[in-house]
Amino acid sequence: MPVIRVALPVPLRQSFDYLLAAGMQVQVGCRVRVPFGKRELIGIAWQLEPSDGFSSDALKEVLEVLDPSPVLSAALCQLLSFAADYYHHPLGEVLVAAIPALLREGKALPAHQSIHYQLSDAGQALSAGDLARAPKQQALWQQLQQQALDETAIQSEQRPALKALRQKGLVSQKEKPFAPYQPLLTPQSGLTLTTDQALAVSAIVQAQGRFQPFLLEGITGSGKTEVYLQSIAPLLTQGKQVLVLVPEIGLTPQTLARFSRRFAVPVLSWHSGLTDTERLACWQHAATGSAAIVIGTRSALFLRFAKLGMIVVDEEHDPSLKQQDGFRYHARDLAVKRAALEQCPVVLGSATPSLESLHNALQGRFQLLQLHNRASGQQLPGLELIDLQQQPVHFGLAESTIQQIKQTLQQGFQVMLFLNRRGFAPALSCDECGWVADCQRCDASMTWHKQDRQLNCHHCGSSRPVPRQCGHCGSTRLVPLGQGTEQLEAQLQPMFPDVPVVRLDRDSTRRKGSLAEALQHITEGGPQLIVGTQMLAKGHHFPKVTLVVIVDVDGALFSSDFRAPEQLAQLITQVAGRAGRAQHAGKVLLQSRYPDHGILQDIIHNGYPSFARLALSEREQTQLPPYQFLALLRAEAHQDELPQQWLHQLVALAKVQAPQVQLLGPIRAPLERKAGKYRWQLHCYSASRAGLHQLLDQLIDASQSWSLTRKLRWQLDVDPIDL
Ligand code: ADP
Ligand code: ZN
Ligand code: ZN
Repeated sequence: MPVIRVALPVPLRQSFDYLLAAGMQVQVGCRVRVPFGKRELIGIAWQLEPSDGFSSDALKEVLEVLDPSPVLSAALCQLLSFAADYYHHPLGEVLVAAIPALLREGKALPAHQSIHYQLSDAGQALSAGDLARAPKQQALWQQLQQQALDETAIQSEQRPALKALRQKGLVSQKEKPFAPYQPLLTPQSGLTLTTDQALAVSAIVQAQGRFQPFLLEGITGSGKTEVYLQSIAPLLTQGKQVLVLVPEIGLTPQTLARFSRRFAVPVLSWHSGLTDTERLACWQHAATGSAAIVIGTRSALFLRFAKLGMIVVDEEHDPSLKQQDGFRYHARDLAVKRAALEQCPVVLGSATPSLESLHNALQGRFQLLQLHNRASGQQLPGLELIDLQQQPVHFGLAESTIQQIKQTLQQGFQVMLFLNRRGFAPALSCDECGWVADCQRCDASMTWHKQDRQLNCHHCGSSRPVPRQCGHCGSTRLVPLGQGTEQLEAQLQPMFPDVPVVRLDRDSTRRKGSLAEALQHITEGGPQLIVGTQMLAKGHHFPKVTLVVIVDVDGALFSSDFRAPEQLAQLITQVAGRAGRAQHAGKVLLQSRYPDHGILQDIIHNGYPSFARLALSEREQTQLPPYQFLALLRAEAHQDELPQQWLHQLVALAKVQAPQVQLLGPIRAPLERKAGKYRWQLHCYSASRAGLHQLLDQLIDASQSWSLTRKLRWQLDVDPIDL
């Protein structure tokens, strides 16, 4: 009997082979139902006749092949296979991320888009009196006389009446099949392009039909979206499809609106707010070519497309493109891989490109396209540094900041306050002179760890006890940097008793529809204080916000995470690009105790592009990513010594297997204790990507047989963005 290898949705790092009974036909990418222990599971046929050894005696038989043709295309199977290898994640769990829930449960693909109900000839011949004794049927009949009704428009209380009318032959149904969308006859014309925009569009259009990555670097408002639109237009005349990845759809309904307004083709959105049924329908629209453009968040990357012509990753620097738990993939990086597999161009756009993408562009791997000016000619708002050292501070706000907030509110405008909650482990600073405890071996600040009453360097791993006195002025008032902002939120309302305070972050917007409500409240409302985290920096458009305060920039200046300065620069630039975008000039206040800090001065005076290039050369000097490859192993357990011990065992093994891979750790994670568990981590740096990945495979393999491995939880993060 033939043998097939099946990818199953289980968190196990092994493959599962099954026998195929005579008469069963299956292709790679089809779903199959198989016995698994005492259960039955739905998996994907992954390989026919796997060549590496298996013993067919012990194999069980496939119970059922669910699809006559593959649900996953060959390119998609290759992408998922690559992703499972690259992120060292069990293939089955990768598939879980890639397939809509209803397909995983074995549901058949919907055969048609929708069903319409309409009156049959007999139904039309009827007169109202004929149904007088069945008022519900009569009402539905009257409704159907006006127009045919879509399946989704039928209320559940109307169902019995519908059934009765169909049984009497008065109502018939018509099915609308999924079919490729109708291509545009002529490409839609848009705005007259600036020279920069025209150059970008022409480069992208010329790359049609082959793999070419682009980095589109252009300040906020420089017209990147217009470049996407005009690059896409010619594809829509050929019936090709386009995938647009965006960080957060709820914040950018206007992006969706701009695409649908421009082109008379089906534009669909894909995001976490969809129901399972809506997801499956969207998936099928993309797979059959009935959707022309899909605008979606991260996981839209795994949609199947009939004729993919281009991928756009907007705000490519945004951390939300990286999945932060389970299968930790980066949608931008996989988008580039997918474009290579599908042989199409991919455009990464940002006002503040990630250093990774900038590096790729400067090395010539990506083609760099730049938009230098704001399309509308509008001024960027002013950045003003507020020196926290020079004036009284109330719960994290300087007196002059409070004055400006009051003024703005009195003028009828809104104020946005950013609280930086990244990097949980603060540096230790002197409350009197601003001295920051730094490492004696590196040019980096030490991180304060409450658990051990120790300072730790996250660059070289050295540690020392918390000092009693300031190393500069001798004061004993040593405090974790940025202390005080924790109370700010609680104090904001009492400080400004007459204005509403709106909070926008992941937690406050989790409930479906709550984000849209809050956004509407902000757009329509009067003076307000809006408190938010990084999530707010993305593509939002708040016309009444004219003052933005970044409350605590210092945490990022002295963070243990080498990416913190980059992320701070991105936040400042993105926020500045959006403040006062409408008629009113805006202003951004940066509160700091270190206004002379090089990073701040560079961002303010030279802008992000200059900052980014300088930061990149610093990364080169220190041999940090993207100049070396990084993977992070984390372990956590209720006993403090277990994760340490486990990571030490890995270190011992790695030193033998791959002496060229540099290891840092085990060290405590920045968030050293979470939900009662102690967290430790190990950084692995290597100049050779292949060498690093080989080692990771060896470490994972070896640790599978250790009894210690079963006593803790561990994770591997390849190319981590949160350290
Ligand atoms: P970005 O995506 O870079 O933030 P947008 O594409 O949203 O920029 O453009 C910002 C504003 O400038 C929009 O209102 C847009 O309509 C306008 N705009 C873009 N390109 C042009 C152009 N070539 N001529 C005139 N206005 C433009
Ligand atoms: Zn001091
Ligand atoms: Zn150090």
